[in-house]
Amino acid sequence: MKSMSRRAFGKLALGLGTSVLIGGVELRFLPHALAADTAIGGEEPVPTDRVVPIDDAPHAVAPTAVNTPAIAGTSAWGARAATEPVQVINSKPTGIVVHNTQSGNSTDYSLGHAYELARSIQYSHIYERGWIDTGQQFTISRGGYILEGRHRSLEALSSGTTHCVGAHTHNYNTTHLGIECEGSYGSITPPNALYNQLVALCAYMCEKYGISTSEIKGHRDFNATDCPGDALYAMLPQLRRDVQAALDGGPAQTWPLLREGDWNRRVTAAEYLLRHRGYSVKVDGLFDAQTTSATQAFQSANGLTADGVIGAATFTKLITTVRKGDNNNAVRAIQTLLQITADGIFGSGTEASVKQLQQSKGLTVDGIVGPNTWQAAFNLPL
Ligand SMILES: [Zn+2]
Repeated sequence: MKSMSRRAFGKLALGLGTSVLIGGVELRFLPHALAADTAIGGEEPVPTDRVVPIDDAPHAVAPTAVNTPAIAGTSAWGARAATEPVQVINSKPTGIVVHNTQSGNSTDYSLGHAYELARSIQYSHIYERGWIDTGQQFTISRGGYILEGRHRSLEALSSGTTHCVGAHTHNYNTTHLGIECEGSYGSITPPNALYNQLVALCAYMCEKYGISTSEIKGHRDFNATDCPGDALYAMLPQLRRDVQAALDGGPAQTWPLLREGDWNRRVTAAEYLLRHRGYSVKVDGLFDAQTTSATQAFQSANGLTADGVIGAATFTKLITTVRKGDNNNAVRAIQTLLQITADGIFGSGTEASVKQLQQSKGLTVDGIVGPNTWQAAFNLPL
């Protein structure tokens, strides 16, 4: 399906690359839809008898086994109104299409940047494409923030029974959900924070709608486009496996995501672990700029993407096995998570608390804090 030549692609990208002024801030962006999809993602007519009016939309929320990811709605990021009513139809989507925005690989991983990204995409889709609203249903920033794209997408997804019709994949907009991943992934892979949230969002979608993980596809599987980039496209088999693992209650769900702005005991524990690894960081439970810098330094030194966000890949390298007799900052980390005195001394009391946790989580009750016990401890409710 990759029929559009790179030369033609490049020409289109050059012709449509743009910068706009929003709120006094000039944004340079090239959402992938701008780069390649002008003719292959736009609004398509939907039979009106299938449309669910706003007031009749189902509001019941079905219980889910996978975690419900945090998704910033259109009102959170300051979306403008759609120019025409968005259509929500009375049928479930049957597949998910992964896209990349083909905008720059920003190193601004903040929530503010994510909001700005969402606004800039909406602006371009409405005012440059002439669409009624953002094309895709959801966007994930490189910092790992999930944002509602088109209005009512969140409402439809939460219902588990209806589908908000988007404009992202020609001929598949009434049956497929679109996820735009911020960045360009022709040769590099997405940051861990983005990938982890992509897994979480896909798992939630699959569970809500009963979509098979085999139906998680790349844009190029349907239309003539390079999207979502060679590197990200090559990750889709892994994505399907990770989403399946999440649906099965497997390891993809078992590490929390810690990042700048967080303030809780998981951050305290992570700070103790960074100190244990020799990084200079204040242990105060606040994931501030200093914690981000220490995390980035640790990631760089360990061959990880230095995004400053602590997710599965970083946790795996950051943790270290501790057991009775140890006396160090890693012990303080597990003690913090277990909410016992963080004196750094792994004695009988700490061992008893560890065993209690292992017992309650169905783990081997040996009192030794290895990867599974660390995961369980980091997932204890705050
Ligand atoms: Zn695409």
